[in-house]
Amino acid sequence: MKKVTFYTLLILFTTAACSLTGQPQRPPQPPTSEAVLPATKESSSSAPQPTQEAGERVQTLLYISGTTHIETLPKAWPDPDTFLEFLEQVTSLGMRWSVGADVGWLEGEPRAAEIVQKSLAWGVQWDVHTHQMGDRARAAHLLSQYGAQPTGVYSGFLIDELEQFLSPLSYQGTEWTPQVLWGAVACPGHRPGCDEASPGVWIPLNSENYLAHDPSGQFIHVGGGTHQLSDARLLVNAIQDGQYTYPVISFTLMIAPDTLTIVKTSDGMEALTVFYNEVNDLPFIRWATIQETADAWVTAGSVPSRIETE
Ligand SMILES: [Zn+2]
Repeated sequence: MKKVTFYTLLILFTTAACSLTGQPQRPPQPPTSEAVLPATKESSSSAPQPTQEAGERVQTLLYISGTTHIETLPKAWPDPDTFLEFLEQVTSLGMRWSVGADVGWLEGEPRAAEIVQKSLAWGVQWDVHTHQMGDRARAAHLLSQYGAQPTGVYSGFLIDELEQFLSPLSYQGTEWTPQVLWGAVACPGHRPGCDEASPGVWIPLNSENYLAHDPSGQFIHVGGGTHQLSDARLLVNAIQDGQYTYPVISFTLMIAPDTLTIVKTSDGMEALTVFYNEVNDLPFIRWATIQETADAWVTAGSVPSRIETE
């Protein structure tokens, strides 16, 4: 746990100022007598002071995950060495990452087992991502053959198929049933309006009422948002301003496998590093995989936190 100190607050204010002006973040400065005044509880500073309200109300934590999908067809497969280098860099930075690879890559990439094993050493988790529903257990089986225990995350799926997830599938003795859902789509092809892009976590009622929360439902939906750094920053600012009371909100940065940049942008490792350094010292930021985000949401009381987006 991060200890709330005067320095944390100072960094909070510094970061807020920098993110508003768009200037690069400066390292935290030592306290001066001028700086002490606005941080004291007696002062009437108008700056957000979310951590001082601990005990009065829940401090919203923002769980930020990173993920990459690899498809079955080789045209967008990552170069193995470049991909390994990316995974090593992003995890040594401090981010938590997961990969969802379809069966074509798991069976067809000659270095798939090596990539799985090396990435495990950096804490990378392997989710199940298959375009054919029937391939779920096969992907889980291949991952376990390569030494990875697949998470309970079914990463990327059609909302219409939700009811079919209830029946477990098995492949050569490996049985796998999803526990966590990520990347829900209403229609295939990532066309406008197809992708469910709300940040936040809830338990979908059914495929007809996917956005409704059902406390007694089976699957936890971890919302990835739009994956864009600009929207992650907006969410960080909104939490900083105290706009939400949910204990846990989620957001996922998604990197395309072939370009190793945030999907639909040219934001690569450099932009990820800038973002990481901007927000890492904020007391409400948690770096976690999709599975870890779901676990933390349950631990924090399973309070639905879906954030309406336009
Ligand atoms: Zn896919």
